[in-house]
Amino acid sequence: MTLRVSHVLATFLLCASVSGVPLGLAAWAEIPTEATDAHEEDGHALLDAALRSLLRDVRRDARALRIPKSVIDLAFADLTLDMSILDLKARQPEHVMAPWDYMSRLVSEDRITTGRTKVADNAAILEAIEDKTGVDRFVVAAIWGVESSYGTLPGTRSVIRSLVTLSVVDRARPAFWRSELLAALQILAEGAVTPDAMTGSWAGAMGHTQFMPSSFLARAVDFDGDGRRDIWNSIPDALASTATYLAKAGWVPGQPWGVEVVLPAGFDYRLVDAQTARSADEWKRLGLSAPVGRPWPDGLASSALLLPAGMHGPAFLVTSNFEVILKYNRAIPYALSVGHLADRLAGRPALAAIWPIDDPPLDRESRRELQRRLSAAGHTVGAIDGIIGDATREALRDWQGQNGLVPDGWAGARALDLLRSASSD
Ligand code: CA
Repeated sequence: MTLRVSHVLATFLLCASVSGVPLGLAAWAEIPTEATDAHEEDGHALLDAALRSLLRDVRRDARALRIPKSVIDLAFADLTLDMSILDLKARQPEHVMAPWDYMSRLVSEDRITTGRTKVADNAAILEAIEDKTGVDRFVVAAIWGVESSYGTLPGTRSVIRSLVTLSVVDRARPAFWRSELLAALQILAEGAVTPDAMTGSWAGAMGHTQFMPSSFLARAVDFDGDGRRDIWNSIPDALASTATYLAKAGWVPGQPWGVEVVLPAGFDYRLVDAQTARSADEWKRLGLSAPVGRPWPDGLASSALLLPAGMHGPAFLVTSNFEVILKYNRAIPYALSVGHLADRLAGRPALAAIWPIDDPPLDRESRRELQRRLSAAGHTVGAIDGIIGDATREALRDWQGQNGLVPDGWAGARALDLLRSASSD
């Protein structure tokens, strides 16, 4: 469960979610790391003052929400900042992970094999959840697998401590962390869990399927009937909470998230546009087909064409249920990983297409260079920020089209090489 980021930021932030750590942490760049080095003592004093001030303000807000003083006292007892979160920030990878690397980490053979056992072991629970919510049981199981390796890696940090720390040290988003902290206190007040047992990732994502506290308040359910919403220890509660989240986000029962397709020779790549949905019949008329040996998906709802790595990688038709998965985590490779793992858990085959591993995505500095060169060639890219958003992608497509190349908008190493040789003429 993660924070929302825009599609524009999604590719930039890919790397953050691989170890179960939520996305949306662009604000990390703002953390005052100077507090940990040169003026260490001054830094500690400042942090202590900021911590005291925060706890005072949060106590006031919590009392306004009628959270009992005893709950707050227990949650804040002997509280210190967890500065190891800063180390985690420092270890964030610089480079964008290629979608194929991301997917092979999230959808590993081990996760497929273990997942099939987990689905079998929890068949009755998953069926009951699907009956109640309409959400595909394999998608629910895939989120469980991707978020915590089926409950084996749910995060062991104190959620209160992490959120207090983030509220103090993350100057870019203090209000966000503080509202999550208040939500965490509300969860303690309802008796769902004790402070000691309220554990999660360093960003405060909790339990088997990594709910942020605010999502817990809005969407978690008690499915095993013991009167508590326990996403830490109860598999039925955690999985039903995830299904409830997806159902409320608009999951359409009976529809797949998407299907892999093959594009015809001479296809107009300008039709590749994640925002434009067409009927399955229309896509068929445009020449799309199923991979060899697989049936065309009759009955597929209107869907958009997605090429996560340009013309040389796999192609997918994605339905509105793909958008629903994106509400769990706004990174396209995340949603593809969940969808594909769900397919594998259901016994469907591996991807038919191969990935263009010889044409990897660019690092941030190279993305800036690509933007500078496109801009110098007269194409509008917006800000030179190293983020490949819609404007940069459109500019690249325009440039590709004008230069006799297939306009797939894939900002890989090959596109930059071609731009370099074109502009050095
Ligand atoms: Ca329960």
